[in-house]
Amino acid sequence: MSNRLSKKVALISGAARGMGAADARLFCAEGADVVLGDLLDTEGQQLAHELSGHTGRAVYVHLDVTQAADWNKAVATAESLFGHLDILINNAGILSMAGVEDTTDAEWQHIVDVNQKGVWLGMKAACPAMRRAGGGSIVNISSIYGLIGSGGAAAYHSTKGAIRILTKTAAVEFAPANIRVNSVHPGLITTPMVAPLPEEFRHGITSTGCIKREGRPEEVAYGVLFLASDEASYVTGTELIIDGGYTAV
Ligand code: NAD
Repeated sequence: MSNRLSKKVALISGAARGMGAADARLFCAEGADVVLGDLLDTEGQQLAHELSGHTGRAVYVHLDVTQAADWNKAVATAESLFGHLDILINNAGILSMAGVEDTTDAEWQHIVDVNQKGVWLGMKAACPAMRRAGGGSIVNISSIYGLIGSGGAAAYHSTKGAIRILTKTAAVEFAPANIRVNSVHPGLITTPMVAPLPEEFRHGITSTGCIKREGRPEEVAYGVLFLASDEASYVTGTELIIDGGYTAV
């Protein structure tokens, strides 16, 4: 533990499990106060309780990232409980494996609402608070499939590509306010999201990368931590790929 986020306050969406939970654990251990937002209230409250013994403090709020009012409440919680908001991790996301021809209108809209609109709403809600704090850092979780294509998951991949450019757009827009914005592009990471995927599909991905295994949530969290921290004070509008070399091959 080295207090890399000492005196920082972070809001993490989708923090009840998977990579968001790993971010929350690491951030608290590094001294941040963390607001955990998710739809999974029981899991989120349990994690906030578990983290309350760490250096940083943690609180859970119900946050549906598609709802602007939920975002405003989450930001208000950060400011009222912890005094300010410095870091936003737009991590919440959902996966659909349907291809171009198989995706229904409703499915497309739902994926876009959560994965893409949710990131925009999060930045929109957090930025006024970050301006009040004198600046901040936003990390948007995209995917390797925001950089390259693959068969299937048409709506999911579209949203992850959109996050990449939305991130750069926001980096330009928010630079005068001392707010940095970057995207993270994980490869296949072992989380509940990918648990239902067939073993052969997962093996197909890991067998083609440089490091021939799935990543762990913690291995992404350390990259998110760097971008969130003041160590990345000259880093904005960029992409951090954490994929075991999958996109290098
Ligand atoms: P996960 O399913 O384990 O966790 C996602 C969390 O987001 C869950 O807690 C879920 O309840 C929450 N969530 C879903 N819809 C929400 C909503 N409307 N409002 C608030 N919270 C909501 O998934 P994960 O693998 O930890 O994924 C985290 C992020 O990383 C996602 O954006 C995902 O697309 C991305 N990603 C995952 C992988 C992977 O291999 N696991 C790879 C690349 C990118």
